[in-house]
Amino acid sequence: MYICDFHREQCWLRWSSLSKHGVTNVRDELLELLRKTARAVDVQAFQDALQQLQSSPPARERTCCDATDCNEPSEQSVRWISCDVCGRWLHFLCVGLTRAPRGSYVCVVCRAQYD
Ligand SMILES: [Zn+2]
Ligand SMILES: [Zn+2]
Repeated sequence: MYICDFHREQCWLRWSSLSKHGVTNVRDELLELLRKTARAVDVQAFQDALQQLQSSPPARERTCCDATDCNEPSEQSVRWISCDVCGRWLHFLCVGLTRAPRGSYVCVVCRAQYD
Protein backbone atom coordinates (compact mmCIF):
# COMPACT_ATOMS: atom_id res chain seq x y z
CA MET A 1 0.00 0.00 0.00
CA TYR A 2 1.27 3.43 -0.85
CA ILE A 3 1.11 6.16 1.75
CA CYS A 4 2.21 9.62 0.77
CA ASP A 5 5.04 11.30 2.66
CA PHE A 6 2.73 13.73 4.37
CA HIS A 7 0.48 11.07 5.83
CA ARG A 8 3.36 8.90 6.86
CA GLU A 9 4.88 11.85 8.67
CA GLN A 10 1.58 12.57 10.41
CA CYS A 11 1.37 8.95 11.44
CA TRP A 12 4.86 8.97 12.96
CA LEU A 13 4.22 12.23 14.73
CA ARG A 14 1.11 10.83 16.31
CA TRP A 15 2.78 7.56 17.22
CA SER A 16 5.88 9.13 18.68
CA SER A 17 3.92 11.65 20.74
CA LEU A 18 2.18 8.92 22.68
CA SER A 19 4.10 8.73 25.90
CA LYS A 20 3.22 5.11 26.48
CA HIS A 21 5.62 4.22 23.70
CA GLY A 22 8.33 5.80 25.78
CA VAL A 23 9.92 7.62 22.91
CA THR A 24 8.94 11.20 23.62
CA ASN A 25 12.37 11.99 25.04
CA VAL A 26 14.06 11.08 21.83
CA ARG A 27 11.22 11.96 19.50
CA ASP A 28 13.16 14.22 17.18
CA GLU A 29 16.00 11.77 16.81
CA LEU A 30 13.63 8.90 16.26
CA LEU A 31 11.72 10.80 13.61
CA GLU A 32 14.95 11.67 11.87
CA LEU A 33 15.85 7.97 11.81
CA LEU A 34 12.43 7.06 10.49
CA ARG A 35 12.85 9.62 7.74
CA LYS A 36 16.25 8.19 6.89
CA THR A 37 14.71 4.75 6.68
CA ALA A 38 11.99 6.04 4.37
CA ARG A 39 14.50 7.80 2.14
CA ALA A 40 16.60 4.68 1.67
CA VAL A 41 17.20 4.17 -2.03
CA ASP A 42 18.04 0.47 -2.04
CA VAL A 43 17.86 -2.60 0.16
CA GLN A 44 21.31 -2.08 1.66
CA ALA A 45 20.61 1.51 2.57
CA PHE A 46 17.30 0.49 4.08
CA GLN A 47 18.88 -2.23 6.20
CA ASP A 48 21.58 0.14 7.39
CA ALA A 49 18.98 2.69 8.40
CA LEU A 50 16.90 0.01 10.07
CA GLN A 51 19.87 -1.26 12.01
CA GLN A 52 20.64 2.24 13.16
CA LEU A 53 17.04 2.65 14.20
CA GLN A 54 17.11 -0.54 16.24
CA SER A 55 20.31 0.37 18.01
CA SER A 56 19.12 3.85 18.87
CA PRO A 57 18.47 4.99 22.46
CA PRO A 58 14.72 4.23 22.51
CA ALA A 59 15.47 0.63 21.64
CA ARG A 60 18.21 0.23 24.20
CA GLU A 61 16.95 2.51 26.96
CA ARG A 62 20.45 3.67 27.61
CA THR A 63 21.46 6.05 30.34
CA CYS A 64 25.09 6.40 29.33
CA CYS A 65 26.03 7.86 25.97
CA ASP A 66 29.04 7.30 23.72
CA ALA A 67 30.85 10.40 24.90
CA THR A 68 34.21 9.58 26.50
CA ASP A 69 33.10 11.46 29.58
CA CYS A 70 29.37 10.94 29.94
CA ASN A 71 27.60 13.04 32.53
CA GLU A 72 24.65 10.64 32.68
CA PRO A 73 21.96 13.29 32.70
CA SER A 74 18.79 12.05 34.36
CA GLU A 75 16.23 14.75 33.59
CA GLN A 76 13.00 13.72 31.92
CA SER A 77 13.83 15.76 28.87
CA VAL A 78 17.32 14.42 28.25
CA ARG A 79 18.03 14.70 24.54
CA TRP A 80 20.20 12.66 22.24
CA ILE A 81 21.96 13.28 18.99
CA SER A 82 23.73 10.88 16.69
CA CYS A 83 26.87 11.65 14.73
CA ASP A 84 26.21 11.49 11.01
CA VAL A 85 29.66 10.09 10.38
CA CYS A 86 30.28 7.40 13.00
CA GLY A 87 26.74 6.96 14.35
CA ARG A 88 27.72 7.46 18.00
CA TRP A 89 24.80 8.44 20.21
CA LEU A 90 25.53 11.37 22.46
CA HIS A 91 23.68 13.40 25.04
CA PHE A 92 23.16 17.04 24.16
CA LEU A 93 24.60 17.84 27.56
CA CYS A 94 27.75 15.78 27.03
CA VAL A 95 28.62 17.53 23.78
CA GLY A 96 27.57 20.98 24.93
CA LEU A 97 24.51 21.34 22.74
CA THR A 98 21.46 23.22 23.94
CA ARG A 99 19.40 22.67 20.84
CA ALA A 100 19.45 20.52 17.73
CA PRO A 101 21.93 21.77 15.13
CA ARG A 102 20.73 22.66 11.67
CA GLY A 103 21.48 19.95 9.19
CA SER A 104 23.88 17.19 10.05
CA TYR A 105 25.82 16.71 13.23
CA VAL A 106 29.43 15.56 13.36
CA CYS A 107 30.89 14.59 16.74
CA VAL A 108 34.16 15.91 18.16
CA VAL A 109 35.98 12.65 17.49
CA CYS A 110 35.09 12.73 13.79
CA ARG A 111 35.69 16.46 13.54
CA ALA A 112 39.19 15.96 14.97
CA GLN A 113 39.95 13.49 12.19
CA TYR A 114 39.19 16.03 9.52
CA ASP A 115 41.14 18.88 11.06
ZN1 LIG B 1 26.27 11.37 28.02
ZN1 LIG C 1 31.40 10.84 14.94
